[in-house]
Amino acid sequence: MTYSSFLPTEEYAFERDATDHLGHFRKEFYLSEKSIYLDGNSLGLLSVRAEQAVCDVLNDWKRLGIDGWTGGDRPWFFQAEQLGSLLAPLVGAAADEVIVTGSTTVNLHQLASTFYQPAGKRTKILADELTFPSDLYALQSQVRLRGLDPDEHLVLAKSGDGRFLDEDEIIACMTEEIALIVLPTVLYRSGQLLDIPRLTEEAHKRGILIGFDGCHSVGVIPHQFQEWDVDFAYWCNYKYLNGGPGSVAALYVNRKHFGKVPGLTGWFGSDKEKQFDMELTFFPAQSAGAYQIGTPHILSMAPLFGSLPMFAEAGMEAIREKSLQQTAFLMQLLDTELAGHGFVLGNPTDDQRRGGHVSLEHPEAARICRALKENGVIPDFRAPNVIRLAPVPLYTSYHDIWRSVQILKQIMEQRSYQQYENKRGVIA
Ligand SMILES: *Cc1c(COP(=O)(O)O)cnc(C)c1O
Repeated sequence: MTYSSFLPTEEYAFERDATDHLGHFRKEFYLSEKSIYLDGNSLGLLSVRAEQAVCDVLNDWKRLGIDGWTGGDRPWFFQAEQLGSLLAPLVGAAADEVIVTGSTTVNLHQLASTFYQPAGKRTKILADELTFPSDLYALQSQVRLRGLDPDEHLVLAKSGDGRFLDEDEIIACMTEEIALIVLPTVLYRSGQLLDIPRLTEEAHKRGILIGFDGCHSVGVIPHQFQEWDVDFAYWCNYKYLNGGPGSVAALYVNRKHFGKVPGLTGWFGSDKEKQFDMELTFFPAQSAGAYQIGTPHILSMAPLFGSLPMFAEAGMEAIREKSLQQTAFLMQLLDTELAGHGFVLGNPTDDQRRGGHVSLEHPEAARICRALKENGVIPDFRAPNVIRLAPVPLYTSYHDIWRSVQILKQIMEQRSYQQYENKRGVIA
């Protein structure tokens, strides 16, 4: 395997940290001294800059009241568009193709209500059986809202092994009955990265629109949505993008679709020049901004003004490179240190196929996670048997990775996980 070039020693981990060009970002984050955080793919950590951005917006509210919409350093009326333009380079889009709005699931509702137009023989949506359940709940209700039966009109591409999807199988499902395809960029459990350009090309060859859920890739993997001609995408900003719990999400709409009236309209989707004319006719913005509905959640998007500039400074290519190195280092340590303890690597090992996290399978995963947390390593558990470990390039060190594996090794050798029940908590 390509990753056998790392040394499994603590000295080596320190050495990698000392020569890491992104290492300086770590000191900008609030890291606990007592634990190692490997859960940034569920909720990214707070940075000093994001904290400052929240204080700034509170101060503007305090000082300006209603005039905060148009006054202060960062008038609230334009913030969703400004944040969209900061996110655009992360996904390979033009500034006006991305808007910060809604939540992931709400944005999927908005996009499906716009781009799912069953007509004639084309009445079905194609998704997959490994996708994030909320996406399926949204698509089921979109099918129902058209008076159709999800059992028949929501087609799920199957997985052969419960971990991975095969693009050939997905393409075989792209029949003349499919009107719309919605797939994840990276699978949330196994971390498999799908071949987005290939799937997009094959969908378009067949006259099908295609959109992607980028929750597990935006901020850790560069994308070229415009170049690949993806029709739309949506993602949350609280995982790799460190926007905070419940942070406002984002969506991308390919500019070839500008001018369409969104499925769910509201006054904040208006052309900004016309919004306050209070006309009874809706004039959509000629940008992704048209997909906004009501007043933006100013307090919940504030942290992004602090966190997003770091991605421009670090560069997405450098972030991806470090992420691949760190997950490779982690996989190699698991290989050498934990052999014989019943773990199975459930993520792709190939760089072209691997997302930002390592997915470790074990029948006792739930209680091994409990033991890890008790011993100062924060992973996350996904039922029934997956431990997800995500080194985050902006704040995880190589030494964190080395130390986490040592702690896991000790837990397995001493069987200390056996003192916990093998059951998940409310969350995870
Ligand atoms: C985290 C996540 C979501 C979450 O949706 P919300 O509407 O933000 O709660 C959706 N899809 C995927 C793939 C996710 O990883």
